[in-house]
Amino acid sequence: MGTQDIIDRCERIYRDLDFGYVHEWKARTGGKAVGFMPVYVPRELIHAAGILPVGIMGGGDDVEIIRGDAYFQSYICHIPRSTVELGLAGKLDVLDGMLFPAICDVIRNLSGMWQMMFAHKYVRYLDFPQTFNDAGREFYRAEMAELLVDLEALSGIQATPERLNASIALYNANRRALAELYDLRSAEPQRVPTSELYLLLRAGNVLEVSEHTAMLQQYLAAARLSQRPLRDNVRVVATGLFCEQPPLSMVRAMENSGCYIVDDDWVLGARYQLHDTATGANPLGAIVDAYMSDTVATATRYVEGDDKGAFLVEQVRSRNAEGVIFAAASFCDPALLDRPMGQKALADAGIPYTAFTYSENTGQVQVIKEQAGTFADSIKLWGAVA
Ligand code: SF4
Repeated sequence: MGTQDIIDRCERIYRDLDFGYVHEWKARTGGKAVGFMPVYVPRELIHAAGILPVGIMGGGDDVEIIRGDAYFQSYICHIPRSTVELGLAGKLDVLDGMLFPAICDVIRNLSGMWQMMFAHKYVRYLDFPQTFNDAGREFYRAEMAELLVDLEALSGIQATPERLNASIALYNANRRALAELYDLRSAEPQRVPTSELYLLLRAGNVLEVSEHTAMLQQYLAAARLSQRPLRDNVRVVATGLFCEQPPLSMVRAMENSGCYIVDDDWVLGARYQLHDTATGANPLGAIVDAYMSDTVATATRYVEGDDKGAFLVEQVRSRNAEGVIFAAASFCDPALLDRPMGQKALADAGIPYTAFTYSENTGQVQVIKEQAGTFADSIKLWGAVA
């Protein structure tokens, strides 16, 4: 199968707001499905309980908001409105539950609304520690143990250590395949167009993990053989897009602006951990350890000390990037409050950047293309800032 066939399938999955794959998977396996909001949830636990984890990333630019707006004030981001719209339209009925990870007040409030709107469904607000010491670890371990009990009750399947280890191994393989994809894009960006990488990531929100890993491996094999010309583009890191996702048209506009995006933080939950989770006698403890000490620095996670921008600077250097594009969802407090710290770290390191906001249904992608294109041109003409 060539890259185009794989990407065509990914785009069909991306646009399918009726979640046909989830319906088909449930009919085929008799299993349950649980949705989760961005950014991160421990999908290994869900999988080990025999449940399909389904990443819900709003409605994109394909959903007309009719009732969702009535639930929220105007000055917050778009993803909760379209998620409510999907829920009220019955498109999420295929899900047997929803998880709302603690990332911001918007998601917290949405979790409470969901409990009232869908009282017959399993709904859990998932708290994450922001102190990375023994107390935080114990809190998180208890939170995960409780979640596991809930999931087992929902599916009727016990997540034994053997099942947990098997799920951990599958998600380790998936993260490795994604890391390979990112490394190939960085080394030879002409072989992995960013819009294709984005669609592959989005497919991973829905597909069962081993099926997604197989798809990634097929794509990697085909991409390595592809004959696409290398353009005189500027290498940039895109950051701030970890929750509400940009529409595909915006991703395409960015890649057609003269930029090669060589790293980014979209669909970040799939790459939240930096290394493998250990398997062994205490798999639940290993999942907790991985979250506590081996995850990326992002706006929704507290970083001790005064070095919040250090991870971003390292990302730029390790990818040999020439600049950074800060792109955040409009009214996204975590991203926009984090941005000045990232900008200061870049300025101190002499790395140029530009910034804009978007929403998942942004239609004005030409403006974004022009801004990214002007940024790329300025780097070509003048290089790094003094
Ligand atoms: S886009 Fe930002 S503000 Fe909105 S739900 Fe996500 S993290 Fe919260």
